[in-house]
Amino acid sequence: MVSAPGSRVEALLEGQLLTREIDRGTFIERAANLGLPAPAIGDAADKFMAIAANQAARRATLRSSYDYIVIGSGASGSVVARRLAENQDAQVLLLEAGGGDLKPGILITETWFFNQGGEFDWNFAAERSPSVNNRSITQAMVQEARRLGVALHLDCGVERVLASGSNADGSARVTGLLLADGREITATRIAANINPKLLFTRLIEGSLLPEDFRSRIQRFRCESATFRMNVALSELPQFNGMPGSGAHLGAGIIIAPSLDFMDRAYLSARAEGTSRSPIVEMLIPSTIDDSLAPPGAHVASLFCQHFRYELPDGRRWQDERDAAAERIIDTVNAHAPNFRRSILGRLVLSPLDLEERFGLLGGDIFHGALGLDQLWAARPLLGFGDYRTPLRRLYMCGSGTHPGGGVTAVPGLNAAREILKDHRSGSI
Ligand SMILES: Cc1cc2nc3c(=O)[nH]c(=O)nc-3n(C[C@H](O)[C@H](O)[C@H](O)COP(=O)(O)OP(=O)(O)OC[C@H]3O[C@@H](n4cnc5c(N)ncnc54)[C@H](O)[C@@H]3O)c2cc1C
Repeated sequence: MVSAPGSRVEALLEGQLLTREIDRGTFIERAANLGLPAPAIGDAADKFMAIAANQAARRATLRSSYDYIVIGSGASGSVVARRLAENQDAQVLLLEAGGGDLKPGILITETWFFNQGGEFDWNFAAERSPSVNNRSITQAMVQEARRLGVALHLDCGVERVLASGSNADGSARVTGLLLADGREITATRIAANINPKLLFTRLIEGSLLPEDFRSRIQRFRCESATFRMNVALSELPQFNGMPGSGAHLGAGIIIAPSLDFMDRAYLSARAEGTSRSPIVEMLIPSTIDDSLAPPGAHVASLFCQHFRYELPDGRRWQDERDAAAERIIDTVNAHAPNFRRSILGRLVLSPLDLEERFGLLGGDIFHGALGLDQLWAARPLLGFGDYRTPLRRLYMCGSGTHPGGGVTAVPGLNAAREILKDHRSGSI
C-alpha cells in the first residue's frame, strides 16, 4: 500500500530532493516526525545520500567554458542541445535547475512518487515505463543529446546571465553564466528555455537592454489561472455517472458539467480570485501504467481552473492554498463520493507555487499568456519573434517564443535552426 511506512519515506525522499534540502540530518528528522520506523528511515537516508553524492559528482565534472549553454532541459531545451551537438566541434552544456535526471518539462504525477525512489538509476525511465509519457519523451531527447556529447548538469540553477559591452553602442553580448552555487561558466552562445520575462527581468542586468525592450518585456503578460494537485489514492474513484472500473478511468476526465458551470467558475474567479466550483481535469495515469503505484493504489493529477495568481483584498496564496485544495476535492467528491476518503497524500501547487518552484512566472504554464497580442511574430515581443534577443549571442528557445506552449518542442526546433544559421554564417 502507498501508506506503508516505506512508501511514505520514499515520498519524503522525493520531496526533499525536489526542494534540494539535501541534508541528512534534516531528512532523518522529518522522517522521524512522520512516526516512521528507524530501519526504514536509515535505508532511505542512505539512498538519499547516495543520490546527493551522485548529483555532486556530476556537478564536479563541469568545465569552465563551453561553446553553447542551454538553460533548462524542458522539451524545447533538450531539442536545442541535441541539434547544437550535431555540430561535432561544439561543446554543449545543458543546465537544469530541477534536481533529478528524470526531470521532465512538465509536472507529472508519477515524478512525485517514483522519480527518485528505490529503483533510482540514471537511465531507468524509458525501460521501466513502456508507455510514452512526458517523462519518457524528455528522457529520449536527453539520451539522444548525451549520445551526441551534450554535458547535462542537474540541480544547477542559473542565477545570472553574464555579458560584456554596452547597450549604448549595440555591443552588448553574452559571455557566460553565473550559477546559483557561485560558479561561473563561459560560453560563446546561450539559449534560454525559460520564460523570457524571467530571463530579462531577473537574470540579466537591466542596463544591458534597450529601454523600450525593458519596458515591453515587463508588460509581457504571464498568467494561466491554473492550480495543480497530484494525489495518491488507495482506490479508484467511483463516479456516480459510471460506477465501477472501466476504460473511462484511463481517459481524460473533465468535471465541467455544463457551459454555465464553466462560466460560473470563470466569473467567480474574476470576482474572488478563485473559483467556488472549479473546472477539474483529472488523469489517472496508473490505470494505464501499473508501475506508477503499488498494486491496488493509484496516482492522479488534477488540473484545475480558474485560480488567479494575484488574489484580491491582500489575500495570500500561502493562506489560501489548502482551502482551494479542499474545494477541488469537494468538486470531485460531488461526482465520485469515495474520492476524498481514498486520498493518501497530496501535492498541492497554487499559481504562486508553480512560479516559485518551477520558474513559471505568474503561474503561467505556457511561459506567457497565449493571447492574440502575444502570438506569432509578437511572441514574446514584436521585433523579437525570431528567437534572437537584444543581447548578441543570446537566444530564446522555450514556450515563450513561437509557437508557444504545449509539449511540442517546436520552439526549440525553430530556435536551433536560427542559432545554427548564425553559427554557419558567422553573422553574430
Ligand atoms: C500543471 C501543468 C499542466 C500542463 N498541461 C499540459 C497539457 O495537458 N498539454 C500540453 O501540451 N502542455 C501542458 N502544459 C504545458 C507544457 O508542460 C509546457 O508548455 C511545456 O513543457 C513547455 O516546454 P518548454 O521546453 O518550453 O519549457 P519547460 O518544460 O517549462 O522547461 C523549462 C525548464 O527550465 C528549467 N529552469 C527554469 N529556471 C531555470 C534556471 N534559472 N536555471 C536552470 N533551469 C531553469 C525548468 O526547471 C524547466 O525544466 C502543462 C504545464 C503545467 C505546469
